[in-house]
Amino acid sequence: MNAEIIAVGSELLLGQIANTNAQFLSAQLAELGINVYFHTVVGDNADRLEKAVKVAQTRANLIIFTGGLGPTKDDLTKETIARLLQRELVIDKEALHSIEAYFARTGRTMTENNKKQALVLQGSTVFRNEHGMAPGMAMTVGAITYMLLPGPPKEMQPMFSKYGRPFLMEKLDRHERIESRVLRFFGIGESQLETEIEDLIEQQSNPTIAPLAGDGEVTLRLTAKHHSEIEAKKLLDQTEQAILTRVGRYFYGYNDDTLFKNTVKLLKEKKKTVAAAESLTGGLFLTELTAIPGASQVVRGGVVCYTNEVKEKVLHVPASVLATDGAVSERCAKLLAENVRALCGADIGISFTGVAGPDPLEGKSVGTVYIGISTSENETAVHALALSGPRDAIRTRTAKYGCSIILK
Ligand code: ATP
Ligand code: MG
Repeated sequence: MNAEIIAVGSELLLGQIANTNAQFLSAQLAELGINVYFHTVVGDNADRLEKAVKVAQTRANLIIFTGGLGPTKDDLTKETIARLLQRELVIDKEALHSIEAYFARTGRTMTENNKKQALVLQGSTVFRNEHGMAPGMAMTVGAITYMLLPGPPKEMQPMFSKYGRPFLMEKLDRHERIESRVLRFFGIGESQLETEIEDLIEQQSNPTIAPLAGDGEVTLRLTAKHHSEIEAKKLLDQTEQAILTRVGRYFYGYNDDTLFKNTVKLLKEKKKTVAAAESLTGGLFLTELTAIPGASQVVRGGVVCYTNEVKEKVLHVPASVLATDGAVSERCAKLLAENVRALCGADIGISFTGVAGPDPLEGKSVGTVYIGISTSENETAVHALALSGPRDAIRTRTAKYGCSIILK
């Protein structure tokens, strides 16, 4: 099945609202393994909507509409489709009852045009609207399935999840099922990741590969259509293998994994403990780690060494180092990691020092970050990063980098 989503509404074309309906539906269809080839936006205008439908009919066998199901004159999605498909619009009794009940309940008078909302395409499967008045509907005519959903996301999303999705699953090959696997990456940008595996994304149709970026991480959702668990595993494994051969060094986990969860898990497995000296992260790293159940077995403690005074007095970074190299330096990061490890009696000492912004510090530019990691008496490594973005993003990504270093 390949789909086109047609969002109807002049407010979309005027830039008053963003087309989040298409975004939501695309993500849902991707999960079902249905390819979405086109997003179309058209205003509340019957002629142009008709044109858009005619184009969609040449290139999609599933056309999903959102918007224009309401009671007013400019809501004309149903009427236009009815005309194109040469179907009658008939009153759906259940929808009419619930509209009447709504008016009775709210003590408002129902006008004639409200009845219009209870009209549905004759012979269609009607989707009840549990969060509003206009019902949705779906019907297959010839080779094409049409689905009509209301515009307001609060109505459209639950309706699709409860009725639209099962309707489509029925349509899909009954023996064919869908299985997804999410691969999680850190330390690589979305565009770089996509470039490295561009040909794989283009060649693959089963499983499909869908990238998504957020919070400094990138995920790839692999969705396989299959007839058995074994087939699914094989398909997903093969594609995963092909991807990891290219970008495996940035890979850290699957599905619901997070860097913090996996760090706690790994330390537990290795029976190692960690302590942190946090300057620019101000405790963020340990806050996130200790939010994970089981952290008590692996987290020893730490120091928020935000000022030079604390770095010097509590963590024994010599004043001379702070004066010459500065707090944001390789040497300082090294000493902080070593000394917090000793102070807390942990197996691993990790330190975060850097410039979160908005202003430069010690003549070092925003995003300059050093992460020290001390694993034994004379084994300390320091990672120098040049991050970009706002203060929040720099701090969060620094804490996540800490995890990715431990996970390596
Ligand atoms: P109503 O009964 O509320 O009139 P409707 O099905 O006729 O619903 P529209 O009139 O087209 O839908 O849109 C109603 C509201 O829904 C819009 O003002 C907007 O806030 C939201 N909406 C419509 N389309 C979209 C879209 N594609 N993405 C996000 N929000 C949308
Ligand atoms: Mg409307």
